[in-house]
Amino acid sequence: MKLSVIVPIYNELDNIPLCHEQVSEVLGGLEHEYEIVFVDDGSTDGSRERLVEIAAADSHVRVVEFRRNFGQTAAMRAGIELASGDVIITIDGDLQNEPGDIPMMLEKLDEGYDLVHGWRKYRQDAMLNRKLPSKIANWLIARVTGFPVRDLGCTLKVMRREIAEDISMYGEMHRFMPILAYWQGARCAEVVCRHHPRRFGTTKYGIWRTFRVILDLITVKYMIRYAVSPMRLFGGLGLASCTAGGLAGLATVAMKLLGGVDMTGNPLLLLTVFAATVGLQFFVLGLLGEVSARIYHECQGKPPYRVRHLHGFKQGGAFAEASGEGRQRHRSAA
Ligand code: UDP
Ligand code: MG
Repeated sequence: MKLSVIVPIYNELDNIPLCHEQVSEVLGGLEHEYEIVFVDDGSTDGSRERLVEIAAADSHVRVVEFRRNFGQTAAMRAGIELASGDVIITIDGDLQNEPGDIPMMLEKLDEGYDLVHGWRKYRQDAMLNRKLPSKIANWLIARVTGFPVRDLGCTLKVMRREIAEDISMYGEMHRFMPILAYWQGARCAEVVCRHHPRRFGTTKYGIWRTFRVILDLITVKYMIRYAVSPMRLFGGLGLASCTAGGLAGLATVAMKLLGGVDMTGNPLLLLTVFAATVGLQFFVLGLLGEVSARIYHECQGKPPYRVRHLHGFKQGGAFAEASGEGRQRHRSAA
């Protein structure tokens, strides 16, 4: 088994040597082959040069150099795509995560999980603008997605390669990895991890990130619940709206016949027209959504299901023929 550690780096000059040292020490003590993939996300403080020096001296180290700052999610995704390990480990480059927790998380993975993510139970960040908003966001995420999670923001995560490869992440979505993986059928576990205060450099985020996380939550909820069948959401809204319009229309007519209320002077008539129009719009949105869902799945070559194991198939090829497409790589999770 080979391990790949992915470290996103954006202006972490003073943390890099220590991070390399600590991660190497932990991985060197395990009986697995390993590599450390540093992704330089457009640093401007000399981090890139530092990383290149380290890569020249240590054959375990690879460096991915971005042309500019593309964000932590993009950095992690690039690292995952270029890594060659069977197990992917993501960790922050600022020494706030504890590399010493990796062996414990690998053991947890061995228990049969596909993804193990950290919970910074004793988080060492500012209370008011970091920990409190994060607590509220995590509570909201757990409620909305139904995924029992206490801390999605911890970058320290250990997962099987096929799971990591399968997650499409855009924007700031790296924190939603466990939820997206869970929705693909991955078995996830959350374990308490250590967390240190930042010693060198500064954080790249502030309070505004919480709002972006909430917006991402809406996208994630939509992707996991309705992306395969948008008509279920928009068609439902359309039906509800048309029904409301119909009822308002009936009420208008009834009020005219029974009470002599002038129809054009009755605001309920406006409601009828409005609700019917909105309802139709929702139906059209649902139909467009259905079309884009098909394009989405087909252009990625990913079917809307995931296979954990295949039994009784001949090695290689047999299932590809059976599936007709043969584009999805079916690797055994064992
Ligand atoms: N990072 C990155 N690109 C960015 C912002 C951050 O690669 O645009 C890296 C950063 O160098 C660090 C990790 O992502 O290794 C986490 O960032 P930070 O410590 O600022 O986040 P916090 O721990 O404060 O949530
Ligand atoms: Mg940090």
